[in-house]
Amino acid sequence: MNRLARLRVEDIQAWVGEVHLSDRKGQTAYYIPVLNQVNPEVFALQIHCLEGEILSWGDETVTFPLMSVIKPFLLLYLLTHLGEDAVFRRVGKQASSYPFNSLTQLQEDCGFPRNPMINSGAIALTDLLAGETPESRCENLLLWLNEMGNCQLFLDHSVLDSVHSYPNAHNQALSLELEKNGYISHRYLALETYNRICCLSGKIADLANLGKLILASSFAEIILEIMTNCGLYEASQQFALEVGFPTKSGVSGALLSIVPKQGAIACYSPLLNEQGNSILGLNLLTYISRWMELNIR
Ligand code: GLU
Repeated sequence: MNRLARLRVEDIQAWVGEVHLSDRKGQTAYYIPVLNQVNPEVFALQIHCLEGEILSWGDETVTFPLMSVIKPFLLLYLLTHLGEDAVFRRVGKQASSYPFNSLTQLQEDCGFPRNPMINSGAIALTDLLAGETPESRCENLLLWLNEMGNCQLFLDHSVLDSVHSYPNAHNQALSLELEKNGYISHRYLALETYNRICCLSGKIADLANLGKLILASSFAEIILEIMTNCGLYEASQQFALEVGFPTKSGVSGALLSIVPKQGAIACYSPLLNEQGNSILGLNLLTYISRWMELNIR
């Protein structure tokens, strides 16, 4: 039985109201100026069930960059095009205990990125994309996702300019360390490709459609396992116990959860907690999980 399909807009509405009344403290991403300036109250949610039902609440027209939510799709693209051996020679599948951009984690691991959901792992994987330039590499991924996922993602140049305006020392240090240890061949190419793919943007329906692409893939099992263990960075284990859905977050406030065999939950709300995960999004997922009786704790 698809329990997800039985959720009603009224349930979501009531839960959003409750979360608003309780703790809505949080911050937008300070180090990407355009993300720091978005209206913190903007909110969108869509649930797409595999049988076709769609539940929608909030602003369906707002566009937002995927940021780190692109990471499972970079992984999906490379698994589909190159296979598991090529991908997992470049990146591990293990959870990390440090923040998403930690150099310490990478150094402790002798330059081998722990998993594809942290920045070092995604930067290492961009080195495997086909194309001579960051532009063509990003374009290849974009075109494939739009075709396969039935969505209309686009590169938001205002977000990319904003990323460029505040050079990210953490990501530069990660790229240097990866190059030093032979896990990427050109650090400029890898990092700039990474910056671009993080700025791929779309509406909430695009994000939900992307979620269904993972569910339909023959690599669903491995991707969902990695999302469960690593998708919310150092908060992943705690979240897996309390909620139980494989989920990936991005610093824009985008959040994508997959409910195996049932559907995808896409959410956008820009206020973030200390780990860089959307506060309202995580709270809503907790309500949904309890309602579906999928939580362990
Ligand atoms: N582009 C962002 C960064 O590298 C993505 C991080 C995220 O969304 O978690 O900092």
